[in-house]
Amino acid sequence: DRLVGADADGEDTAVEAALRPKDLEEFVGQERVREQLDLVLRAARARGATADHVLLSGAPGLGKTTLSMIIAAEMGAPIRITSGPAIQHAGDLAAILSSLQEGEVLFLDEIHRMSRPAEEMLYMAMEDFRVDVIVGKGPGATAIPLELPPFTLVGATTRAGLLPPPLRDRFGFTGHMEFYAPAELQRVIHRSAGLLDVEIEAEGAAEIAGRSRGTPRIANRLLRRVRDYAQVKADGVITREIASQALDVYEVDGRGLDRLDRGVLTALLKLFGGGPVGLSTLAVAVGEERETVEEVAEPFLVREGLLARTPRGRIATPAAWAHLGMAPPQQAGG
Ligand code: ATP
Repeated sequence: DRLVGADADGEDTAVEAALRPKDLEEFVGQERVREQLDLVLRAARARGATADHVLLSGAPGLGKTTLSMIIAAEMGAPIRITSGPAIQHAGDLAAILSSLQEGEVLFLDEIHRMSRPAEEMLYMAMEDFRVDVIVGKGPGATAIPLELPPFTLVGATTRAGLLPPPLRDRFGFTGHMEFYAPAELQRVIHRSAGLLDVEIEAEGAAEIAGRSRGTPRIANRLLRRVRDYAQVKADGVITREIASQALDVYEVDGRGLDRLDRGVLTALLKLFGGGPVGLSTLAVAVGEERETVEEVAEPFLVREGLLARTPRGRIATPAAWAHLGMAPPQQAGG
C-alpha cells in the first residue's frame, strides 16, 4: 500500500472512525457543499420531513463517507452503509430497501458500480418509495409492489459524470467535493493530533499538510507516521524539522510525490529529455506496468501540472524540471 494512496487501507479503517468529525460544524473545509447541505437539512428538519436524496462526488478520501454519517446525525436518523459492488442482484437491493426504517439514511458508496437491474430498481425506490419484487420465473413471474418508508439515499461516486442521467436526475442535491487547500488540511491535522493526543506545532502541521495531496485521509495517515518518528527519534513533539525528516525517511517529498511518482518524472527528464515519450516506453524505463504508471502515478502528476499527456506522448512541464532541480535542455533552432 502506498503511503500517499487515497484509498483506505486496513489501518485507516480502524483509525478513521475515531477521527471522523461528528457534525457539520466540525467538518473542515468544503465551504460550499457544507453551506448547501446545511440548508437542505435545516429545511427538511423544519418541515419534519425526510431529507432529499444527496449525491456526493469527489476523489477518494475527501470525506464522502464522513459527510453521509453527518447527514444521518444531523437528521437524528440511523444510517446503513453499503456499496455498489456489494449489490450484485436487484434482490440484494430489495432486501436492504425493505428493511429500512422511516427516515433512515442509506449510504451507497461507488454507486456507479451497481448492477444494471439494481440501478433500475433504485429509480423507482428513490422516486416513489416503492419497489416491485419479482416472484417466480418465466411466464408465471409476477411483480409484487412493496411500499417502502421514506428514506434518504446518499450516493457517492468519484465522478458524477459516470452516472446515467436518469439516476443523476433523481437526486435532489449534488455536492461536489474539492481537494483541500493546505490551510484546511492543516486544520484537519491539528484536530486529529488532538484526538490522538499528539503534540504538534503549527509549522509541523503545515509541513505535513503540504505533502498530503489535498486529501484528509492521506493527511491523517502521514500524521500517524510522523508521530511514530517523533516518538522514536525525538521527544514526541512534531515540529517542522521532525515532520520533514520523517517524511523524507518515508520518501514523501515536499510536494507529496512518492518514490513511484519521482521515478516516473526522473525517467521522463533524464532519459527522454522531458519527452514526448510513449507511455509504454516510459513504463519500461521505470520498470513498472503501463497501468501502474497511467493510473497510479500520472493522475497526481497531471493534477500538479508536472506532466502532460499529449497525442505525441508524455511531456514534462517546466514545473517538473524545477521540482527536480534540473535545467531543461536548450531549445534547438530558437
Ligand atoms: P472513500 O470514497 O475512499 O471511502 P471518503 O471520501 O468517503 O473516501 P472518508 O472516509 O469520509 O472519505 O474520510 C477519510 C478520512 O478523512 C476520515 O478519517 C475522516 O475523518 C477524514 N476527513 C475527511 N474529510 C474531513 C474533513 N472535512 N474534516 C476532517 N476530517 C476529514
